[in-house]
Amino acid sequence: MKRGKVIVISGPSGVGKGTVCRELMSKYPDLAATTVSVTTRAPRPGEIEGVHYYYRTNEEFDSLLAEGKFLETVDKFTHRYGTLFSEVERVLQMGKNVILEIEMIGGANVKKRIPDAVLIYLLPPSLKVLTDRLVSRGSETEEQIRVRQSQVEKEFDQAEPYEYFVVNDDLSVAVENVKTIIDAEGLKDDFRNVKKIYFGRD
Ligand code: 5GP
Repeated sequence: MKRGKVIVISGPSGVGKGTVCRELMSKYPDLAATTVSVTTRAPRPGEIEGVHYYYRTNEEFDSLLAEGKFLETVDKFTHRYGTLFSEVERVLQMGKNVILEIEMIGGANVKKRIPDAVLIYLLPPSLKVLTDRLVSRGSETEEQIRVRQSQVEKEFDQAEPYEYFVVNDDLSVAVENVKTIIDAEGLKDDFRNVKKIYFGRD
């Protein structure tokens, strides 16, 4: 059986990465599963150890790093995040594709280590829509929203290694587009591999 692929899904805060991933997995439970990352930030209300993250101290994070347990790590917003190899393997063993819902520095690092990883960037229909969503959350001031908007634009400059840009306007369309990408990527093969299988030679 062909092994699943590593699929990175990134995008600006508020674009609906979590919703798209949840919907994809609920509609196509055999297709893919997400991993649980390690973080040094504290759990938010309602978050559960081993479900949302593995919550670890800085020292514990350092030990995991020194033991070579991470596929990638990032320092962000004064906290640290990392994807464990064991989590990726856990999902691959289930015969599924692995979804990493991580930010872009991590995405680029995954691509360096796993060249056939697939990088998908989720976009809002427009910058204005993203801002409107933040406004409707009501948790941000006008100034914070302006800062957020310029952050989104600056962050986007790091999206160069990304290969697919999916607009999350209609959720079901976005989910189907991600599904199509994963299916098509699964059909990719290597010339030498095919030659060996069909003609028994290198
Ligand atoms: P939050 O603290 O809001 O859960 O996540 C903050 C950011 O860190 C989000 O963009 C999230 O996708 C990203 N993130 C979560 N886990 C990881 C990880 O293991 N590696 C990387 N590179 N980013 C992560």
